[in-house]
Amino acid sequence: MIDVKDKSQCCGCGACAQRCPVSCITMREDENGFLYPQVDVDACVGCRACEQVCPFLNRQEAQEPVICLAAANPDETQRKNASSGGLFMMLASRVIEQGGVVFGARFNDAWDVVHDAAETLEDLAPFCTSKYVQSVIGDSYRRAKEFLQQGRMVMFTGTPCQIAGLRLFLGDPQEHLITVEVACHGVPSPGVWRTWLKKCSGGKTVQHVNFRDKSTGWRGYSVLIGENRRHHDDDDYMVTFLDNYNLRPSCFNCPSKNGSSGADITLADLWGCDRILSRRDDNKGMSAVIVRSDRGHQLVEQCVADSQTVDYSEVVKYNPALAHSAVRPDGYDLFWKRMSKAPLWTLKRYRFLGGAGLSAAMSRIRVYLHHRLH
Ligand SMILES: Cc1cc2nc3c(=O)[nH]c(=O)nc-3n(C[C@H](O)[C@H](O)[C@H](O)COP(=O)(O)OP(=O)(O)OC[C@H]3O[C@@H](n4cnc5c(N)ncnc54)[C@H](O)[C@@H]3O)c2cc1C
Repeated sequence: MIDVKDKSQCCGCGACAQRCPVSCITMREDENGFLYPQVDVDACVGCRACEQVCPFLNRQEAQEPVICLAAANPDETQRKNASSGGLFMMLASRVIEQGGVVFGARFNDAWDVVHDAAETLEDLAPFCTSKYVQSVIGDSYRRAKEFLQQGRMVMFTGTPCQIAGLRLFLGDPQEHLITVEVACHGVPSPGVWRTWLKKCSGGKTVQHVNFRDKSTGWRGYSVLIGENRRHHDDDDYMVTFLDNYNLRPSCFNCPSKNGSSGADITLADLWGCDRILSRRDDNKGMSAVIVRSDRGHQLVEQCVADSQTVDYSEVVKYNPALAHSAVRPDGYDLFWKRMSKAPLWTLKRYRFLGGAGLSAAMSRIRVYLHHRLH
């Protein structure tokens, strides 16, 4: 039976809950806003199926890529509406045109991030662009299995741990499945996102959210919340994401990096494009497409006409998240301790505090409190 005693050992993929034959596992949010499995012990039949699908209990070997490519979507609108080079839309459109189904992450009406399925080109649009919040997977693995059983082609996209969870959930190799992971720095807390959104919107309805607004360029992207556009370095939520404070504890010990999720394709930003491939760099977004299987290769060859081979180790040099887990910052525990009480305007302070180390952080807090109280 799944029993999460150490939160750094659960990535929240939800495979256990979806696999349980008697539905005795529920994903529940903890005090920091992350989902963890909770087992109804009385209903559990002790079959241990949940343990067999856990990416932490069934770690796979890292895999060498078949080939690594640099590519961008030739449709400028699609590229502009994507985080990187807009490759997701190229691959996904092809699958839909062939009568397949695509799973991905979208915002719901409350701006929570949820996994869902698309069967038309119009339904693909909400999946575009990175949402820097851990998505709620719900019953997506079960739904994907149903589509596969109907003989439909399924392209399942998500973070590496979500792909690992799906593959373990499905068990046997699936003829009509193609899995596409996005490179992942780590997943931020849905709870922190809700608090930040409330703070930014003042509780009012928000019409737009875009974590990767390219109107200020691909490298210098902005975050758009409602009518408010900020450079990502000036957005407290993004700062705590990029500095690893609001990440899930398991992200510091990710079991699914570097091809070990079993994904057919990995999509990433080709950071360092100005060095690796300077003549193609227009600061509008370039993707690294890491092909990891023959099936992945076939799909990429069908969709991507203009690509260039690049060296995977060069790509990882500028984008370490592809191969290495995020580093747990000093002050991570302090961040969460303060989160429940501190107003969010203090968040940015943690970048500084983390770099300075915990004791320096404590003394700065003491000085800060002293000034507030006197
Ligand atoms: C939490 C997170 C961290 C990331 N960290 C890095 C990184 O360190 N380095 C890097 O190169 N790239 C990272 N990416 C991936 C990158 O931002 C792009 O998503 C990827 O390169 C694909 O870009 P695109 O232009 O092809 O398509 P886009 O249209 O930008 O991406 C759409 C795809 O992203 C998926 N997606 C969006 N949000 C989520 C989510 N919350 N959970 C699961 N899937 C999601 C959609 O389902 C779809 O498959 C991260 C993405 C996420 C969600």
